[in-house]
Amino acid sequence: MKKIGVLTSGGDAPGMNAAIRAVVRTCIYNKITPIGIYEGYKGLIENQMKEFSSRDVSNIIQRGGTVLKSARCSQFLTKEGRLQGYKNILANKIDGLIVIGGDGTFAGAKVFFEEFGVPIVGIPGTIDNDLYGTDFCIGYDSALNTIIEAVDKIRDTASSHNRLFIIEVMGRDAGFLALRSGIGVGAEAILIPETPVYTEKLIKKLKDQSTQNKQSMIVIVAEGEKSGGAHAVAEHVKSNCPEFDVKVSILGHIQRGGSPSALDRVLASRLGNAAVDALKNGSKNEMIGILHREISHIPFEKAIKHNVNINPALLKLSEILAI
Ligand code: ATP
Repeated sequence: MKKIGVLTSGGDAPGMNAAIRAVVRTCIYNKITPIGIYEGYKGLIENQMKEFSSRDVSNIIQRGGTVLKSARCSQFLTKEGRLQGYKNILANKIDGLIVIGGDGTFAGAKVFFEEFGVPIVGIPGTIDNDLYGTDFCIGYDSALNTIIEAVDKIRDTASSHNRLFIIEVMGRDAGFLALRSGIGVGAEAILIPETPVYTEKLIKKLKDQSTQNKQSMIVIVAEGEKSGGAHAVAEHVKSNCPEFDVKVSILGHIQRGGSPSALDRVLASRLGNAAVDALKNGSKNEMIGILHREISHIPFEKAIKHNVNINPALLKLSEILAI
């Protein structure tokens, strides 16, 4: 392994820069040349890449986003696009690839490995935390902290006006962000894609709670919640409970940005380092994650296809603590 390429792909996540830094510096430590590939698979296809020095990754560990930039790349979904990417791998004499992203990124990596045999390992970087085989994905903890900080502020205004706030957080298919942040802010209810439509139960719950002298109520809704997200839930509540002063807040892209948390910085540093070691030791076609505090190696196939289940104990906990 003399040259390793690294790219970030799909949605950006806080901590990706810390992972890039760890990859680059672990390569240099091991006398391997690190090649930064810009804009994910798009840059691979368009040959946008350059050798990185240790100084190229100075002063980025604390920055959100990704200095390599990220992109969604429809060309990589085609065999011709991937072939062009492979030609650039050969032209640049890259021996192995590290891709940082989510399940789509790993689906692309898997097919690329199967077609051309290029050793690839993946680092889970997605605020959704929906990859099998790792307890945490880079960015998840930072996004949780951002949500909690924002909702705490909303709680202040909600309490001052006896208001019910319905707050939408990211999570098209997965409710991990909603569930954990909901517990963290003491939400009165949490609605996630994994559970059946909850609106009737929600109305009953809110009416019950309003008799208990609560000064404010917060409902956290994942964007992929089955009745249609925060606005749909709010309409339902307004028509069934006209006595409530209902407000909606969609947190949106602030959840992706900002400086990574301590947990994400350390996680990203460990995973970046372990990914280089894995390639050096002959790993291919797998994700490097963290399980029970130890580095884990999970084939891409499993990481993307096995469902990660919501912990029912956490759901129950959120209900118990909301009374
Ligand atoms: P996030 O979880 O934040 O959305 P992601 O990695 O899942 O991140 P995607 O947009 O799904 O983000 O995937 C990133 C890129 O990976 C796509 O733009 C595409 O180039 C490539 N990709 C995704 N699925 C495949 C596939 N089945 N075959 C080849 N390439 C793929």
